Amino acid sequence: MEKFKGVGASPGISIGPVHIFDEEKYIIPDYGIDPKDIPSEVKRFKESLSKTKNELLILQKKFLKTVKDKKLDFFKMHILVLEDPYLEQKVVEQIAENRKNAESALFEVMSQYIENLESIQDEYLSERVADLYDISKRIMRNLVKKRRQTLPRIEKPVIIISKELTPTDTAGLNRDKIIGFATDLGGRTSHTAIVARALEIPAVVGLQHITRNINEGDILIIDGNEGLVIVNPDEKVLKEYRTAKGVFEKFSEELRKIQYLQAITVDKKYVKIAGNIEIREGIDSVISHGGEGIGLFRTEFLYLDRSDLPTEKELYDVFKEAVQKIKPFDVIFRTLDIGGDKLGGQFTATDEINPFLGYRAIRFCLENIDIFETQLKAILRASYYGEGKIMFPMVSSVDEILRIKDLIEQLKLQLKKEGKNYKENISIGAMIEIPSAALTSDIISRNVDFLSIGTNDLVQYTMAVDRNNPKISYLYDPYHPAIIRLLNEIVQNAHRHHVKVHVCGELAAEPMAAVLFIGLKVDELSMSAIAIPEVKKIIRSVKYADCHDILNKVLKFETSQKVKASLHKFVLENIPEFAYKSAD
Ligand code: PEP
Ligand code: MG
Repeated sequence: MEKFKGVGASPGISIGPVHIFDEEKYIIPDYGIDPKDIPSEVKRFKESLSKTKNELLILQKKFLKTVKDKKLDFFKMHILVLEDPYLEQKVVEQIAENRKNAESALFEVMSQYIENLESIQDEYLSERVADLYDISKRIMRNLVKKRRQTLPRIEKPVIIISKELTPTDTAGLNRDKIIGFATDLGGRTSHTAIVARALEIPAVVGLQHITRNINEGDILIIDGNEGLVIVNPDEKVLKEYRTAKGVFEKFSEELRKIQYLQAITVDKKYVKIAGNIEIREGIDSVISHGGEGIGLFRTEFLYLDRSDLPTEKELYDVFKEAVQKIKPFDVIFRTLDIGGDKLGGQFTATDEINPFLGYRAIRFCLENIDIFETQLKAILRASYYGEGKIMFPMVSSVDEILRIKDLIEQLKLQLKKEGKNYKENISIGAMIEIPSAALTSDIISRNVDFLSIGTNDLVQYTMAVDRNNPKISYLYDPYHPAIIRLLNEIVQNAHRHHVKVHVCGELAAEPMAAVLFIGLKVDELSMSAIAIPEVKKIIRSVKYADCHDILNKVLKFETSQKVKASLHKFVLENIPEFAYKSAD
């Protein structure tokens, strides 16, 4: 029996057999060939080159449709390498003269290429090594004829172990068959973790080396509450966990009894509790967990698992369904926040060194205006049928908001000319997730109807810590005094301008943070549906006045340890049932 500690990404306990998902794992066949097989080996190699080239041309076309900047076209360089007659000649030589099979001949030649490039003291050339690895892997995959394994085809209930699951992989998981997962990479606020919570699949991420320590057929316990993975547990531990699973499920059941009640503090202060969604089915889950609206619709997920772009009509249909289903509450459509860890479909990785600081969200949309306009029109039209609102991700300054507001006015005129119904007085909000926006939230407040604090990114950018990187996850600290001060400043700025403030990052669902948000008088908390009953329970168990006092107290603390200790004590004093939650 072995135990591994990672980050609890989605609560709950599952027990079951392992399925290892490793898309790149294959053995490069290495064998000598008969002289008579030389022509067929050469043919096989050439076919893999042209197949790879076709794949790249398709990807390039898609890429250039959305990304107009030709400088970003790294596919061009990859295709040039494929067309290099020297590469072909060298591999053919290896096959013909050294009687090697095509895979090992390619491996030999590419390794030599890479070694040569690595030895050159030139920054540009040494950066191209990664490109060569990439091309080499692509050709090899076509030679070995290894298809990417697709997760949804798994037949019996299993726990998935993988180095990494993309948010799109995760969104495609079949809840009946995949009862839990654990990954080497990822953090609590990675989109993989967020999607796991939406699907209510217990998950642990950021385990660093779990894939090296597990074999197909092992039995695992996934403890998503504590961030633990136990491999081949003995009978005693299995028994303990079966009991813990029962206790957790009973507690969740208890919480469900209050989920449709409003979140009103003991001294009668109301906080609106809404849900975040990524997939269409999420709406039902928010409603069934007692959410009073959709505080964040991550619309980018509608773009990720398909090879073309959704049309205005397709988007309109989904958005209209959301607006109508959630009535009498509202839906806040967050415009396309593509990039960072959200890639897929038309949106492939760019060759930026810092994608999280790069070409993403509204930065991308303002450059790809056709895509943006299609989405904005769909939102404007769908919102006519209920309470649709719109908000923008990754705002760094008010100029961006002003540009988008102009665009929205133009689109309204267009829709009027087209004779289509749309919401004239649609509410417009800015996400505050970049320190520059937080520090100018007074200016931004003067130009929008509401602010929504995206704490996942706000913490990442304030602390300069990648939210997906397990090596530095200890620095991803939402209770750092810098964050508490920023949150306080944002809320004060917004309220001074009579603008409502929401929190839609994962922090909204943490009991200790909920106490702070009540004290700050945040107007709305939006979270994964699964967390709604618990947060309602907290709010219904405390007094606003006490939360305000503790907020003022922790604002003076110098370390996050003191902040956390104080909030943890407060939570336990008011809600003793939360004793199973640790302060970290
Ligand atoms: C956030 O950054 O807090 C947020 C809600 O947006 P996302 O998690 O999609 O980046
Ligand atoms: Mg964000």
